[in-house]
Amino acid sequence: MTIASHFIGGKAVESSTGDTDDVIDPSNGEVIQQVTLATPTDVDAAVAAASYAFPEWSCATPGARSDAIASFARILDSRAAEFAEVESRQAGKPIRLATEFDVPGTVDNVGFFSGAARNLEGRAAGEYSADHTSVVRREAIGVVGSIAPWNYPLQMAGWKILPAIAAGNTIVLKPAEMTPLTSVMFAEAAHEAGIPAGVINVVTGRGSVAGNHLIAHPDVSMVSFTGSTPVGQKVMKTASETVKRVHLELGGKAPFVVFDDADLEAAIQGAVAGSLINSGQDCTAATRAYVQRPLYDAFVQGVADVMAGVRLGPTADPTTDQGPLISWKQQESVAGYVERARNYGAKIVTGGQIPGGELAKGSYYEPTLVIDAAQDSEIVQEELFGPVLVVLPFDDDDEGLRLANDTPFGLAASVWTRDVFRSLRATSEIRSGCVWVNDHIPIISEMPHGGYKQSGFGKDMSQYSFDEYTNVKHVMYDRTAVVRKDWHRTIFGSR
Ligand code: NAD
Repeated sequence: MTIASHFIGGKAVESSTGDTDDVIDPSNGEVIQQVTLATPTDVDAAVAAASYAFPEWSCATPGARSDAIASFARILDSRAAEFAEVESRQAGKPIRLATEFDVPGTVDNVGFFSGAARNLEGRAAGEYSADHTSVVRREAIGVVGSIAPWNYPLQMAGWKILPAIAAGNTIVLKPAEMTPLTSVMFAEAAHEAGIPAGVINVVTGRGSVAGNHLIAHPDVSMVSFTGSTPVGQKVMKTASETVKRVHLELGGKAPFVVFDDADLEAAIQGAVAGSLINSGQDCTAATRAYVQRPLYDAFVQGVADVMAGVRLGPTADPTTDQGPLISWKQQESVAGYVERARNYGAKIVTGGQIPGGELAKGSYYEPTLVIDAAQDSEIVQEELFGPVLVVLPFDDDDEGLRLANDTPFGLAASVWTRDVFRSLRATSEIRSGCVWVNDHIPIISEMPHGGYKQSGFGKDMSQYSFDEYTNVKHVMYDRTAVVRKDWHRTIFGSR
């Protein structure tokens, strides 16, 4: 069996100790490949390669960076099927999802940043003091240390790497331990496309060892993390010791608010698709549907009916709608949330089981609809990251919006209404980084993605992400050429 290596300084590099871990296909438990485990020494080598590459890459013209990234997009596109297959296997994604969402989304993101690389903007230069000309420079920060989660490994590699390198930074990415394969392939493809050695480095390994060492590293100037809120808190604490810039994209618990004038059938379809995408392992997945009382019963019945038709199956089968969870540990965690909700009086309308038969080989969990849970219960408040939708009723708009805002998270939300005034109020009062109206899930490279509250801060994708990955420098030129400046009077008086 081959071993997936780190990618450091333009080359595949093995761990300094030779330690490896298995990458497992969660749909059947088979070992796909082994992966090298990073030691602090390996991380040091990757940071050194990124530091070495920084001066040249950050001084390359935006046009040169843009050309290399455009070529990268073309290479990725030409290898789309290969990326989709590996992504599907390592993350347990149905091949349809990997082929139609993960890979084309990533290619588009790379293409977007090829254009964006040429559009780093500062404010207008000018004479804000009569004696000086001020110029704002937007500059790369240095070496970025990035840490990514397992739910969308390829897309997350793109979201972390592209804005950073388009702005002239170099990067060391540590993908999640369970899903490192496409991140290494991504870095290799970038190098093949002409992005110089050391600009993109990937170290594979454990968060507590490689991740922690990367964040604490004195030569890393910025940390960009996507993952859970508890690990994000640790990352922020460690990064504070060397006062690094921190960019955190954390967990979510998205509300899905259905007002009584909504198109009921559209809301039902949207709730099932929005809660089950990627087996519910999506930080923006619809997790809490609040439905205004006149539509409540019909909504619950409709969602249960549509969920019953969702096809669980092998990830390579193009007819499979829902694959396994990422691991058996995740399966146990999701089953535990549902079981405890049941014990506390919630009702499981459909699902709530680990399927048997052929699917028992994988870490599958049935699409699950829960009602009668308390607003303050863990199944409503905590991110459980599985194919589980909780539905709760509300009476008036004030209550619906209050409940939507009533968790510590604020990543995404949706509102379902045909009333423009209701949607205007809801979109301004819901405290989250994205609010959809009459849809739930779509993302687009041109628009920012990021959280409010404990979902973190900072924006991925879009021109806004440059704000995260650049420093703004004020340069002020004297225009007078006089030796004793006018303002020196405040020091020397009239002497
Ligand atoms: P996680 O927090 O367990 O792990 C994320 C990454 O952090 C992994 O690479 C892991 O190895 C690393 N890590 C763990 N401990 C570390 C430590 N002490 N120091 C440094 N690194 C460490 O998250 P996960 O389970 O991989 O992913 C799921 C989570 O990611 C969910 O909470 C989900 O909402 C979130 N997520 C958020 C977004 C977003 O855009 N906001 C996108 C995708 C996923």
